[in-house]
Amino acid sequence: MQELWGRKVLKKEVEDIVLLEEQAQKLATMQEVTEKTIQCLRCGQIHDKRSVQLVSGAYFCPECIQLGRVDTSQEFYHLPEPEPVKRTVYFAWKGTLTEGQQAVSNELLASVKNGESRMIWAVTGAGKTEMLFETIHHSLECGYRVGIASPRVDVCLELFPRIQAVFPEEAAILLHGKMKERYSYTKLLVCTTHQLLRFFKAFDVLIIDEVDAFPFVDNLILQYGVNHAIKKKGSLVYLTATPTKELTKKSAQKELKTSILPARYHRRVLPVPKLKWCYRWRETINKGKGPKALVTKLRSLVTRNDVLIFCPSISLMEQLKSVIEGEFSETPLACVHSQDPERLEKVLRMRNKEYRILITSTILERGVTFDGVSVIILGANHPVFATSALVQIAGRVDRRMDYTAGEVWFLHDGCTKAMKEAIKQIEKMNTLGIKRGLIDEV
Ligand SMILES: [Zn+2]
Repeated sequence: MQELWGRKVLKKEVEDIVLLEEQAQKLATMQEVTEKTIQCLRCGQIHDKRSVQLVSGAYFCPECIQLGRVDTSQEFYHLPEPEPVKRTVYFAWKGTLTEGQQAVSNELLASVKNGESRMIWAVTGAGKTEMLFETIHHSLECGYRVGIASPRVDVCLELFPRIQAVFPEEAAILLHGKMKERYSYTKLLVCTTHQLLRFFKAFDVLIIDEVDAFPFVDNLILQYGVNHAIKKKGSLVYLTATPTKELTKKSAQKELKTSILPARYHRRVLPVPKLKWCYRWRETINKGKGPKALVTKLRSLVTRNDVLIFCPSISLMEQLKSVIEGEFSETPLACVHSQDPERLEKVLRMRNKEYRILITSTILERGVTFDGVSVIILGANHPVFATSALVQIAGRVDRRMDYTAGEVWFLHDGCTKAMKEAIKQIEKMNTLGIKRGLIDEV
């Protein structure tokens, strides 16, 4: 029975066939919208019937086919979540929250007690996971089902052991596309946002981490998944360092309650990016030369810290690498991007200080922490660097307790709106942090 609680799955996804036939509720997989269109009830996409008709005459959904084909010859199997029953849950966390974190944690707990949704807007490196623990503990003790979802599988992989360590006696499961473990019912789970498409009215509390990250942002399918995975009176919690325009607007119009944490736990201001003119950076590198502004800046930064150089395109990266190798022949360096099979090893080697310079695509824009780094964004005016990307990249610097005077530099040949907005957003948070007494002024 438990296997189907709060789930919405196809026959082939269920092991217990007797359960399916005798007890499960059956739900339609698709519904007609108009005479000519049909909607998939797993992902919410509406299709022109003619384009999704099978030879058998049935209709199918091409959008969410990676999760197993949904078509009108099938049904979803479902059982409602049982009513919550109060219980005792062992809470092993022994850390303490900063004043700012505690305030957010209290607001979040109050929201969940009232069955409200809330956005937590916390600067990069603020320690947002810790702020969830009290609320998760309370929710589990109420007998609630709690889901923590992220669009990024690497975030899920990092989050899961941390959550398990805090609730060591609680059964928990991690769900993502590449997992081998079989699904089983738990009150606590961590999953990718794609996996939410297999749930129906399951969660009393659903936390979406990195809500502005690809592929969740602007993705109607995943947003449909979230809205159907949560119970009607459940609390939806958005966590972000760089909220989308839509969430910022909802928050400004008081449609979505918001907690802002403008400061990191070490009480220093966020490093504000500095601008440096770097004329025709792409053409110069293409000619096999190092742009002067880049070489000079790199030479000075590398005396104090390791340096991450963010590069807007993979094709430019290899050329950039050989250019920099020519200028810095004594300095160990590497480049890394999403297609790189050695990606994880290289990141680890940078962490272990085996490289002094790492040239990277936007894959390292979030979710990673290196000790003692400065950051250069080469071609910060390239369209791949949206405001949120720039804020996240700047947020790689000065995350640890020990201060290493890391800097953030935007190298560009034409300042963009995104660059200006990123700087404005970071300065605004610093001002707010000082005003609230969460930052020590020097
Ligand atoms: Zn679909």
